[in-house]
Amino acid sequence: MNTQRSQGIEGGAAGAPLTIGFDLSGATALVTGAGRGIGRGIALALAAAGADVAVNDFADEAACASVVTEVEAFGRKGLVVMGDVSDEEQVNAMVERAEKDLGPLSIVVNNAGITRDNVAMMMDPADFDAVIATHLRGTFLVSKAAARRMFRRRTGCIINLSSVVGRRGNAGQANYAAAKAGIIGLTKSLAKELGARGVRVNAIAPGYIDTPMTQALPDETRQLIVDATPLKGIGTTDDVAMAVVYLASPAARFVTGVVLPVDGGLGI
Ligand code: NAP
Repeated sequence: MNTQRSQGIEGGAAGAPLTIGFDLSGATALVTGAGRGIGRGIALALAAAGADVAVNDFADEAACASVVTEVEAFGRKGLVVMGDVSDEEQVNAMVERAEKDLGPLSIVVNNAGITRDNVAMMMDPADFDAVIATHLRGTFLVSKAAARRMFRRRTGCIINLSSVVGRRGNAGQANYAAAKAGIIGLTKSLAKELGARGVRVNAIAPGYIDTPMTQALPDETRQLIVDATPLKGIGTTDDVAMAVVYLASPAARFVTGVVLPVDGGLGI
């Protein structure tokens, strides 16, 4: 790849060399729901790009410890910060702990999630509330705790996991789709509130990604999704993680308020 062009990435001064800026050396990240699946993939990709990483999860401390070991294998610092993202006290404690042990957070990825699928007519309101609480309230609380610190420091980026389902809706997932659509509104609002202080807020909308969450789907459902995907396949956790690295990196320094689909074209 030719990395020399007449426009530099940092301001476009004529004649300045273009730096391909995916290096996250010196960055400190917090990834929620990172004990497995997409969150684990994101934590490892951020570490591979040079960031120290705080690994959050709700229940599985052993899984988080194992992700931290993998982070450390990249020569980065890792830290387990257990906590429920829907609980304000726990969120504040985990953000504080991450900053105390690893230093100021420059990257926060709101990835923690659950599903409680059913058609809306049959859905227990408790299942509606649980999904909204983890995805939407959790993303709000973690963003709020991090944004106050990033706002003061005039730098940082927040990346929220939405979904193709939040853009298009999905039968049997009214709670999940509502939460993921809410995350899009939250992302754009935060981007407008924080942009003037140099804090960027973006979302990623994955399609069908192979993780424990989707492995629970029946084979016929999985095949229907693959058939409806223009690239005719299933995404990997790395596909999402690479998009996170881009949005977190200097390469995206002028990008905020976007919802980046990583869905093989499913959401077109
Ligand atoms: P996953 O394999 O089920 O992992 C979700 C993680 O979130 C788990 O480690 C879980 O921890 C954690 N978590 C759940 N509730 C939490 C809470 N209250 N506080 C902290 N952590 C919590 O899911 P995934 O497939 O990797 O999905 C990750 C994200 O991508 C989710 O936001 C999901 O909605 C989104 N997404 C996924 C797909 C897909 O196809 N997989 C598509 C679009 C969007 P415990 O195990 O301890 O409960």
